[in-house]
Amino acid sequence: MRRDMAATVFTIANQKGGVGKTTTAINLAFGLARRGVPTLLVDLDPQANATSGLGFEKEAGRSLYGPLHGEGAAADKVLATRQDNLFLIPSEVDLAAIEIELGQKDDYLVQLREVLKPLVEGERFGAVILDCPPALGLISMNSLAAANHLLIALQCEYLAMEGLSQILSVVEQLKQAGVNERLTVGGIILTMYDVRTNLSRQVADEVRKHFPTLVFDALIPRSVRLSEAPSFGQSIFEYDALCSGAVAYGKLAGEMAQRFSLQSTTHT
Ligand code: ATP
Ligand code: MG
Repeated sequence: MRRDMAATVFTIANQKGGVGKTTTAINLAFGLARRGVPTLLVDLDPQANATSGLGFEKEAGRSLYGPLHGEGAAADKVLATRQDNLFLIPSEVDLAAIEIELGQKDDYLVQLREVLKPLVEGERFGAVILDCPPALGLISMNSLAAANHLLIALQCEYLAMEGLSQILSVVEQLKQAGVNERLTVGGIILTMYDVRTNLSRQVADEVRKHFPTLVFDALIPRSVRLSEAPSFGQSIFEYDALCSGAVAYGKLAGEMAQRFSLQSTTHT
């Protein structure tokens, strides 16, 4: 299927750890692919949780380390998955070294953008999703320089919005410095929502009040099924397609496709 548009690039970057970034990256990418959007998930975290969560082994030589190091092309790292329309560039522990190596280059913020360019500007993908480590280091900064939109995973807990100002100011700085003028905050995804607690509801209400247009309607519930799926190397759609987590990520994928006009290629 030929596409005549560049892919839309999303980064799920956030300095906060354990807030559902990777769970969202996997299931959002899978959800978009199920809807027929050709989607590339790029695992940029040396922990490689997105890689293992999709059932892939961490293997040396498969990550973007080589291309970022000047060896080989990103296109050679793209793997097909079990799901039609879903592709993965895995990570492995070598990627940790790239934080240091990037710092030694002149254009250290735009290396990832350059490496991904042929994949983004080609006709193969409609969406590219970058899963980042929990730090605003050079990998995350490069992802923000390469992206059209930042997606923020926000855990529905006490002080949820505390860390938001830091990532929002980084976005502004990158725009003002001319590193990535087109970057927007594409949306806030409320994760680990616990229907049994008032706190979750209060946090969700509060975030919605502050960012009425940014917060997606889909509320990702705290769900044992969502936490179990990665240990089976499966997305939630494979592990338990009828559970509340699968329904929520399916809804999020629908909202994403609509908000960013992500085209399905299966019915055209
Ligand atoms: P890191 O910062 O380490 O990369 P992360 O932000 O990518 O973490 P995840 O790995 O997605 O976060 O989630 C952290 C932990 O919480 C994992 O064990 C995951 O399985 C679990 N988890 C994520 N989302 C949910 C959810 N909605 N309900 C229950 N458990 C969840
Ligand atoms: Mg993660």
